Amino acid sequence: METPKTPTAIEHRIREGLSRLVSVFRSEDWVRARAAGLNPTQHAILECLAGRAAGLTVKDIAFQLGVSQPTTTDSIAALERKALVVKRPSETDRRAVHVCLTEAGSAALALGDAVSGEVEHATGMLSDADKEHLLMTLVTMIKRLQDAGAIPIQRMCVSCRHFRPHAHADAANPHHCAFVDAAFGPRDIRIECRDHATADPSLQAATWGVFHKG
Ligand code: SF4
Repeated sequence: METPKTPTAIEHRIREGLSRLVSVFRSEDWVRARAAGLNPTQHAILECLAGRAAGLTVKDIAFQLGVSQPTTTDSIAALERKALVVKRPSETDRRAVHVCLTEAGSAALALGDAVSGEVEHATGMLSDADKEHLLMTLVTMIKRLQDAGAIPIQRMCVSCRHFRPHAHADAANPHHCAFVDAAFGPRDIRIECRDHATADPSLQAATWGVFHKG
């Protein structure tokens, strides 16, 4: 069959490209999870709970991971048996129960975090400028998907109440994190920060306006 002279829309081909990466991500998720003695859903639950000292309800965890509540419940039961998570009554709502990470859970997570796979290797071969550009593109795409309701709010700097975009004149380190009280540059923008504190919607919109314009 002849290759059409006009390719499909660029958006379609980018989607095709990203979907090629998904299969690698899936297999690397298995490797990371196995390093911690878990399956990928159990490992993702530990990642989701990291940095959330007050824990999350089963419903919130299921929402964050985009999996069903029964699957989440089964995975949490397995993690409880391994003493990697513990259930505690909510501090703000006596009827609610929160799932919290234990010290053993943090240690298991560190085992998975220590594994670096082919995606990180391939990314490491990009130029510094390309890495930074890719990071900014990912932040922008994730933000758009959040706005469209396709994914929940992620723990990124751009939705964090500690983030002060373009607070400094230093071109290399224009941004400021009020949590650690330090300046940082575009290549240090976080996609998944365990110290993230979700800003209210009006602050998020204002922050994004300054960040994106800058
Ligand atoms: S606490 Fe984390 S997410 Fe928030 S601004 Fe600082 S580095 Fe970014």
